[in-house]
Amino acid sequence: MNPVFANSAWITVPERLVLRRGRWAPCRLAVRYGIFVHPVEGPVLIDTGYGPEISAGKRSLALRGYAAVLRAEMVPDSAPERVLHRLGFRTEDVRLIVLSHFHADHVATLCRFPKARVLARRDVFERIRACSPARNLRHGIFTELLPPDLAGRLIDVQARPVVHAGPPLDEGRDLLGDGSLLAIDLPGHADGHFGLCFPKLPTPLLYAVDAQWLLRAAFEQRVPGFPASLVAEKPGQLAHSARLLTAFRDAGGHVMLCHDPDPAPFDLREPSA
Ligand SMILES: [Zn+2]
Repeated sequence: MNPVFANSAWITVPERLVLRRGRWAPCRLAVRYGIFVHPVEGPVLIDTGYGPEISAGKRSLALRGYAAVLRAEMVPDSAPERVLHRLGFRTEDVRLIVLSHFHADHVATLCRFPKARVLARRDVFERIRACSPARNLRHGIFTELLPPDLAGRLIDVQARPVVHAGPPLDEGRDLLGDGSLLAIDLPGHADGHFGLCFPKLPTPLLYAVDAQWLLRAAFEQRVPGFPASLVAEKPGQLAHSARLLTAFRDAGGHVMLCHDPDPAPFDLREPSA
């Protein structure tokens, strides 16, 4: 089965925040997460999207503030359990989740999968645990959204073998041992941020997650500067990662982002009414 991507929520921001020389008019951003079925692992999630967990229950003032600023509009029909059900699976069938980075909009529903192992960067996870809440907040990270037992379920992406990924990606980490899914370093947005390449699809796909918010920003060399750069871990590397996306497209591949609002080739089609 090809990977599919569902949109968990919409977030509205001024376009100029996410596109250099963009308009001040509102721009609606998606919050995608992915699902694919692996012959050994079964249904595998790529991040978990946004969810009401952000503001449900006893949340810190900081997280409630984050949720209030984003004012996300949830898409209940795209919640992971509903999408899994449409694909013929139950939530508990998910035994593996790949986390591209630890931002709140990528881990919000992680606690719904208490049995799943989580492929992520252990070094980043340890740095997050050692950081003050204030520093994590600046980077959109809230440890309260992470399952308390995550350390024991985490599989370190950095321990996966490095393989040749072909031009223009050079190399990646073979996450599942069969070359079907490669983690590709895309630095700039967040500590350890990586994208996911499906090199064996008829048209290879690079899911570049949050390397940029809009494909236009990458493809038209319109990577936003200040103030968007404030939330980036290494703003100076964003343009480099954006050039990699462009090179991948120019080599004939598909590129997708988490937040680009335009329909994308692997987006899950809405159920017919
Ligand atoms: Zn992010």
